[in-house]
Amino acid sequence: MSKIYNNVINAIGNTPLIKLQTASELTNCTIYGKAEFLNPGGSIKDRAALAIISEAEKKNMLKDKGIIIEGTAGNTGIGLTLIGKAKGYKTIIVMPETQTPEKIDTLKSMGADVRLVAAKPYKDPNNFVKLSRKIAEEMSANTNQSVLWANQFDNNANYLGHYNTTGQEIWSQTKGDLDGFVCSSGTGGTIAGVSKALKEKNNKIKIYLSDPKGSALHNFIKNKELIVEGSSITEGIGSSRITSNFKEALIDDSFSIDDNEAMNILYDLMSKEGLYLGTSSGINVAGAIRLAKELGEGKTIVTVLCDKSDRYHSKIFNKKFLLEKKLPIPPWL
Ligand code: PMP
Repeated sequence: MSKIYNNVINAIGNTPLIKLQTASELTNCTIYGKAEFLNPGGSIKDRAALAIISEAEKKNMLKDKGIIIEGTAGNTGIGLTLIGKAKGYKTIIVMPETQTPEKIDTLKSMGADVRLVAAKPYKDPNNFVKLSRKIAEEMSANTNQSVLWANQFDNNANYLGHYNTTGQEIWSQTKGDLDGFVCSSGTGGTIAGVSKALKEKNNKIKIYLSDPKGSALHNFIKNKELIVEGSSITEGIGSSRITSNFKEALIDDSFSIDDNEAMNILYDLMSKEGLYLGTSSGINVAGAIRLAKELGEGKTIVTVLCDKSDRYHSKIFNKKFLLEKKLPIPPWL
């Protein structure tokens, strides 16, 4: 029976698991994708946004008509803005200009104050995360209103949100009958929260990172070295540093996935199963297939389907862009 909610915030989370048919058949395993794209803001990041806002309210750091400021690849900004509108908070969203116009337009259409900045590495003082902190500090000094720097990368409310919701949901949906969980990491909130929740229930459940090229996390898991190789068109995932959230993750091993592998899987999911997914889902499902092959037949593996293709049309359904990047082109383009 479908549910009735008092407000949109209550519709965050409790997403279904969808069996990924091709990936399951290919590996003789059961591979499920948790349909995070069904969250009201269209992505898994609604959960982090809600956890961060709830924690700040509890600590009296965010009061009526407060202002939330965040550096984000877009999805967290969308989640924060959606919850902000429902609760009466303003949002200032600082984004690298390299993110797709789809996400930027969505945020502007929702009424967020979007500040686009040049893409700079984390060590640069003008990195988007550092700039968002600076704006929050300056604003805080000049207003009587409460100002919250959401700080999704190093605010552990993020992973605790996934520990309390995403991880528990996966455990109860599979009735504890699962052998592995795999996903990519941006802030590390998802993998930290889910891994802690699942390992606490059954320490034998394998947790794998699925890391895009251009990220240092794979080498960190393998050799404890933050070394970056290659690059990726994926957004919102990969990292050059160990965030406070990632530090909490209980990870057994890691796969490094290139865009070719991820994009072929993404186009297959669309054309064979009607799953219209964003770039990180390609990396995640590629990781799930590799984990299934590693663990062997008959196993149950879960990953997360973080958002939808519509946030990335200008890249993943753009023939010119794909040709330039030497990536596979879906045959229907
Ligand atoms: N996929 C997408 C589409 C995202 O926006 C993000 C967050 N930036 C992630 C995956 C990574 O999730 P997390 O921040 O919890 O590691």
